[in-house]
Amino acid sequence: MAAAPVLDLEEEPSMDIILVDSSELSSPPSPGPSRDLIEYEVKVNQRDIEDMCICCGSFQVHTQHPLFEGGMCTACKDKFLSCLFLYDDDGNQSYCSICCSGETLLICENPDCTRCYCFECVDTLVSPGTSEKVQAMSNWVCFLCLPFPRSGLLQRRRKWRGWLKAFYDQEAESPLEMYKTVPVWKREPVRVLSLFGDIKKELTSLGFLENGSDPGRLKHLDDVTNTVRRDVEEWGPFDLVYGSTPPLGHACDHPPGWYLFQFHRVLQYARPRPGSPQAFFWMFVDNLVLTEDDRAVATRFLETDPVTIQDVCGRAVRNAVHVWSNIPAVKSRHSALFSQEESFLRAQDRQRAKPPARGPAKLVKNCFLPLREYFKYFSTEFTSSL
Ligand SMILES: [Zn+2]
Ligand SMILES: [Zn+2]
Ligand SMILES: [Zn+2]
Repeated sequence: MAAAPVLDLEEEPSMDIILVDSSELSSPPSPGPSRDLIEYEVKVNQRDIEDMCICCGSFQVHTQHPLFEGGMCTACKDKFLSCLFLYDDDGNQSYCSICCSGETLLICENPDCTRCYCFECVDTLVSPGTSEKVQAMSNWVCFLCLPFPRSGLLQRRRKWRGWLKAFYDQEAESPLEMYKTVPVWKREPVRVLSLFGDIKKELTSLGFLENGSDPGRLKHLDDVTNTVRRDVEEWGPFDLVYGSTPPLGHACDHPPGWYLFQFHRVLQYARPRPGSPQAFFWMFVDNLVLTEDDRAVATRFLETDPVTIQDVCGRAVRNAVHVWSNIPAVKSRHSALFSQEESFLRAQDRQRAKPPARGPAKLVKNCFLPLREYFKYFSTEFTSSL
């Protein structure tokens, strides 16, 4: 919101690419820049790789790639930002860690890593044929996990976690700051405070809580009327505070807005001191019971816009929720609904809530996947838990 408009210098017509090898003339003309030139430019023309977009080969560099040495153009930066924390249902990242696209991906087999790389990136930046070699390997670990920092032209940045945070803070339009991701050896199990709605089952199936593990890891409260700051400080510290309006069809003791105000109040008690580097996440879920005014208040209090997540079965929307959260990628995963669709959803509300619709906690479950970059997780069968 507060981001200053960036002067778009990259609108200029791109320079002509002069083909150096006549054999390349036989290939069909490709629109836009080509990555095949990166190696030639670096090795023969001595061009600094930081002056080329390593995602697409463009010379119109807007910023530096946060994970590997090299530049990034505006278009690739935008793609990278929106895909940065996107995860598939299997718990691995959805896109290539270098270019943020790719249909066929090589997955890092380090159990603590979730990163993927596309064939094209690996073949262009490491060396031709590498993707095939990697595929044939049984235990491949990726370029961020390997003990040595360089593979071909691909050079891991020193302190890439810091680069990643700086990249996000500088480029993202979100008013929320991103916490620096945590290296595996420093990750601790997450400590959760869950208000009204319970997410124990979901967090357990994602591997963040162990079956039968220390019950102190998740505190669930249905009523917080008498909860004061001292209570929360005594139970805590917490890393994640979750709250939701009651699911439809449940008898409520309070008007819907009450749940929002109580969530916001308790959230303030649980927050780390200002300036603390501790990663702290929160999520508030409204099962479409808040009024429009309540939602505007929520957006003001929680300082971020909500996103709508739907449970779609065929063409019918069975359930939907509004989610406010500072967990990365909740926004890019689900874009907001248009108001027309919204009123349609509200009209459906009355007939909603007949079983097989999924409850709010289930709907938001995969939004917690980016927490894998911050907290310890225990082995789990992702696919079978869905
Ligand atoms: Zn690019
Ligand atoms: Zn790629
Ligand atoms: Zn890895």
